[in-house]
Amino acid sequence: MVQDSLITQIRHLKALCVRKLGVVAIGCCGLAVSFSSAILISWTQVARPQLEPESTLLALLNEVSSDSPKLVDDSLKSPRPAVPRAQSWQSPLAKQCKDFDQPVRRRLEAIRKQLGQNREQISIDASNYGKRYRLDPWKQPIDPKPRMVVLHETSNTLSSAINTFKTYHPNDNDQVSYHTLIGRSGEVVDVVDPLMRAYGAGFSAFLGEWAVTNPEFMGSVNNFALHLSLETPADGYIGGRTHSGYTSEQYDALAVVLDEWMSQFGIPPESITTHEHVDLGGERGDPRSFDWGELQVRLAALKRLC
Ligand SMILES: [Zn+2]
Repeated sequence: MVQDSLITQIRHLKALCVRKLGVVAIGCCGLAVSFSSAILISWTQVARPQLEPESTLLALLNEVSSDSPKLVDDSLKSPRPAVPRAQSWQSPLAKQCKDFDQPVRRRLEAIRKQLGQNREQISIDASNYGKRYRLDPWKQPIDPKPRMVVLHETSNTLSSAINTFKTYHPNDNDQVSYHTLIGRSGEVVDVVDPLMRAYGAGFSAFLGEWAVTNPEFMGSVNNFALHLSLETPADGYIGGRTHSGYTSEQYDALAVVLDEWMSQFGIPPESITTHEHVDLGGERGDPRSFDWGELQVRLAALKRLC
């Protein structure tokens, strides 16, 4: 499939970058076949460079992003929807230039090292993600660079979310994915390459900005967002406005992943937000019971809030 070959291309290009940066891939293991969809699924463990220069990543983004959606000709019949009114976002993260928690910093550095050498990546069905676009269906330029993070929760187990992403979804409304998942034990599962467009949010905008990539739908933040989802605790599976929250291990892994993305793509802390905030349909409330204080301590310890 086109996306499969693109992912192969991205991984090849990334491997070249990794070699240029002097980091050696440590291997891969395992192949499995999904009998329901006959999609080749690979479970791969690869070395990830600690720091990929932003310029290198943007060059890769140019390689894998697309000029415009396929529907460009048909879409000319549809009017371009007006951009939504901007809703301000007051980040709960505060500037912090002192009183760093050194034990937290040492713990996060150890986790970063561990994840840098051994991080799980999965391949999902190609219907659930796509390329980032440089033009919208009306041939207006849109910036495909990831420049914000949307936090989510899975609403059910990690494996349930993964199964959904591996399932072929012919209907656009059912297609869904996040870039990265974080399980209850702090396990990090990379699902969609950050250079690709994960389908984490539907009708959505951030600070009055969205991108329309399909003229049959309103805009969303997906073309310029990175989506990260935390596994929901069991008492949150049945719905409700709150639950018992996320584990310390999840906040640790979250801080490490965010630190990496902020570094790679130059994302400021105030551009980390929630699905609840960007959702324009008024239906999303995730991630429920998220404790910004836990993230504050960790990102401050990593000197990301000064
Ligand atoms: Zn969500």
